[in-house]
Amino acid sequence: MTTAADHRAEWWSLAACQHADPDLFFPVPGTRPSRAQLLGAKAVCAGCPVRPDCLRYALVAGPVQGVWGGLSEDERRLLRQREAKARVRTARRSSPIALTRRAGATTPARRAGATTPARRAGATTPAPRAGANV
Ligand code: SF4
Repeated sequence: MTTAADHRAEWWSLAACQHADPDLFFPVPGTRPSRAQLLGAKAVCAGCPVRPDCLRYALVAGPVQGVWGGLSEDERRLLRQREAKARVRTARRSSPIALTRRAGATTPARRAGATTPARRAGATTPAPRAGANV
C-alpha cells in the first residue's frame, strides 16, 4: 500500500529545488518575500518536473509558508478560493433543484400559481433611497 508520505517522498526526490538556495523559497518568518526572491524561486519551479505534485501537496496541506509549485502563499490562497467557488458552482448546477429547473419542471407550489406575499401585493423592486449611490 502506498501512503501519502510515500508519494510525497517519491516526487520530492525529483524536485528541482533540492539544491537551490532555500532563502528563495522560504522568506524569514514574519516577513514577506522580496520580488527578487519570488522571481528566483519561480524560475526554479518553472523547470521542475514535479511542479503539479508540489502545488497539489501545498494546496491540500493548507497554509504552508513559501513558494510551492511555482506559486506564492498569496497566489495559492487565491487559487484555493477560486477552486472552492468552482466546487460550489458545480454542486449548485448538479443539485436536484437545479437539474429539475433545467429540465423545465417546476415546483408544485408554482404549478398551483403560488407567488410571494409581496408580489401578490404588487410590490416591485424598492426605489433607491435619497442620497444612495446608484
Ligand atoms: S515546484 Fe518548485 S518548490 Fe515545488 S518541488 Fe519543484 S522546484 Fe521545488
